[in-house]
Amino acid sequence: MILAGGFEPFDARIKGEYGYGRWPNVITSLEYERILSAAGPFQGHIQRISDGKNPRRIAWIQCVGSRDSHIGQEYCSAVCCMSATKQAMITREHAPESSTTIFYIDIRAHGKGFDRFYERSISENNVRYVRSMISRVIPNPENDTLSISYAAPDHHVREETYDLVVLSVGLCPHPSFVQLAKRLGIRLNAHGFCASDPLDLVATGRLDFEAPDEGRFPCLRLAREAVAAGGTAMASCNAANEVAVAEFLAQTIRFTDIPVILEKTLEQVAVLEPQSLSVVETADVEARHTARAIIERMK
Ligand SMILES: Cc1cc2nc3c(=O)[nH]c(=O)nc-3n(C[C@H](O)[C@H](O)[C@H](O)COP(=O)(O)OP(=O)(O)OC[C@H]3O[C@@H](n4cnc5c(N)ncnc54)[C@H](O)[C@@H]3O)c2cc1C
Repeated sequence: MILAGGFEPFDARIKGEYGYGRWPNVITSLEYERILSAAGPFQGHIQRISDGKNPRRIAWIQCVGSRDSHIGQEYCSAVCCMSATKQAMITREHAPESSTTIFYIDIRAHGKGFDRFYERSISENNVRYVRSMISRVIPNPENDTLSISYAAPDHHVREETYDLVVLSVGLCPHPSFVQLAKRLGIRLNAHGFCASDPLDLVATGRLDFEAPDEGRFPCLRLAREAVAAGGTAMASCNAANEVAVAEFLAQTIRFTDIPVILEKTLEQVAVLEPQSLSVVETADVEARHTARAIIERMK
């Protein structure tokens, strides 16, 4: 069972100094993703949402709601450096006359080939990167542009003007995920994401399943016996997984789906290890009936 609760974008309004929600030409990276999409509101043409004009100078501000201890978002959201790089590259391909600048704290090109991708954005697409801390974004009503003030590495405060500012928003755990994880017995880390073993990041978060009452769920006993009788490791393993899932579901959604799962279990065992099906002889009447019907169908 894979639990993939996903994320929710950081609410950029919390970082009031960037003006999201106040200045119409300050948008989030998710909104810009829709603008770039061929299936999006402008069929992939790069336009401002506010007035439909083609922005010539576009800036990305990184780490909006990530790596920011002032607002309790200390962690790196991991995808934003690459998504901004990708968006800037696509922008330059669609509109070669545009300029694209990414204001960043440091570039975290996680993943195989990502650093090469970042290098290519500079050498082939002319994306500009500025290491900086942004202090604010303010609108210029006279020409409908936005000014970005930032502290440069030489400690001087600089100002540049843009037609569109994209905030690379951080990724937060979905609020309902806390309840779901609690119900499923999955441990969360301090930020609300699934806690993982630092030495085995893909290990399952939960191995144990409490056994439901066999008296009430006779089909489960049959499935368990199928596992016990399974000869090959493969058959046992598949069936064991099914039993574990069945047991888990029995606790959470009661018994309604279990016969379907049992059926799948038996089908798997029958394909991989036909002799295991002899366990039906030892099962109770209801389970025997179900199993025989399945075996008959598979003959
Ligand atoms: C602007 C931007 C651009 C990106 N571009 C790229 C890119 O080009 N290439 C790339 O590889 N990655 C890209 N990424 C990263 C990518 O979007 C994520 O890594 C990916 O979406 C994560 O997938 P997921 O299935 O874990 O989560 P999600 O895509 O968030 O899916 C989780 C799903 O679970 C559902 N859910 C949550 N809780 C429950 C519940 N209790 N019950 C039922 N359903 C629930 C949610 O509704 C959602 O549909 C980008 C990210 C951003 C922000």
